[in-house]
Amino acid sequence: MTRMTPLLERNEQFARTYTPAALSLPAAQVIVVTCLDHRVDPAIVLGLQLGDAPVIRNAGGRVTPAVIEDIAYLAFLAEQLFGGQLADDRLFEVAIVHHTQCGTGFLADPSFRHQAAEATGLPEAALEASAVADPHVTVQADVKRLLTSPLLSPKVSVSGHVYDIATGRLTTTLDAPYP
Ligand SMILES: [Zn+2]
Repeated sequence: MTRMTPLLERNEQFARTYTPAALSLPAAQVIVVTCLDHRVDPAIVLGLQLGDAPVIRNAGGRVTPAVIEDIAYLAFLAEQLFGGQLADDRLFEVAIVHHTQCGTGFLADPSFRHQAAEATGLPEAALEASAVADPHVTVQADVKRLLTSPLLSPKVSVSGHVYDIATGRLTTTLDAPYP
């Protein structure tokens, strides 16, 4: 018996009625970038089904170099596999979702950040960069960071949103107009 035991039982239930799907373009043509917080599960909050949208998650839902590299690879893969099937030559929209009450918000406090750096061995600057104190501010910064990356495919658009833990509502901060 481990902590995984009840989850494995749930998986057994799931697998009983499961039908596998072929690899295809994500049905929603959206990639979600969001926080790893267990209160912000995109499948539940956005009603995503299997095959709808790839989801990239890290602390804060920040646009890090690793996130940019994943998006660049997904764009390349989608273009290679499904480029000919696209009606309007657009691959997908990246929806960056930051949220209120984010646990990374504590890192905005210098003494907490210093303690965290000492305890984990992570550089203080990296911890500061991951902090989401005001999601409306950080999501705008991250949309800009992704849009200005030379690795971003011109066939990809970017939008920014804030999820409110208190209400369950997602608000769009920056829409994703195509150039
Ligand atoms: Zn968070």
